[in-house]
Amino acid sequence: MGQRKGLLLVFTGDGKGKTTAALGMALRAWGQGMKVLIVQFIKSSIWQSGEQKAAEKLGSGLTIRSTGMGFVYEVDGDFDRHRQAAQEALGLAGSEISYGKYDLVILDEIFYAINCGLISLDDVLGLVDRKQEHVHLVLTGRNAPQEVIERADLVTEMRDIKHHFSRGIKAQKGIEF
Ligand code: ATP
Ligand code: MG
Repeated sequence: MGQRKGLLLVFTGDGKGKTTAALGMALRAWGQGMKVLIVQFIKSSIWQSGEQKAAEKLGSGLTIRSTGMGFVYEVDGDFDRHRQAAQEALGLAGSEISYGKYDLVILDEIFYAINCGLISLDDVLGLVDRKQEHVHLVLTGRNAPQEVIERADLVTEMRDIKHHFSRGIKAQKGIEF
């Protein structure tokens, strides 16, 4: 086993697979006995996704906090409530990351939250800069900001070649949620 080095990993791009890549990594880390925290900025806890159900079954060691309120355009015009939920999620993530209890922290759809103005890029950069040395941090979402890409150790862009959605096939259980 090599020396432990906490990494900043980014999954971005407009193709499918960003969140699922992060979830695969979460499973891998959990299997190694590492403590994992996933904060979902978009998904709400009103109905349970497969990953939320899995987290319950996996028990302690893998925690999902789904503090999001859904995509901004999907919900009523209550932008302030959206923003408050996202900022609370970011505050929670920030204290966990600087505290260092978790080995792997995933901030899912954080770039969406930045790009639609729910949280500020500066707050996210501040959180990245306060990361404990040993913590692995994964950020996902379309349109990763250049400042984050510069700080990252790994950036993978999912490129859309084909998606069933464009043929009118709706989100499938086990595949999208
Ligand atoms: P997933 O959560 O399935 O890994 P993702 O995180 O890469 O996907 P997001 O940008 O978070 O993708 O989009 C969330 C939803 O949009 C998913 O249900 C996904 O299937 C769908 N989606 C992703 N990429 C595309 C695409 N290129 N065209 C249409 N829908 C897409
Ligand atoms: Mg996603």
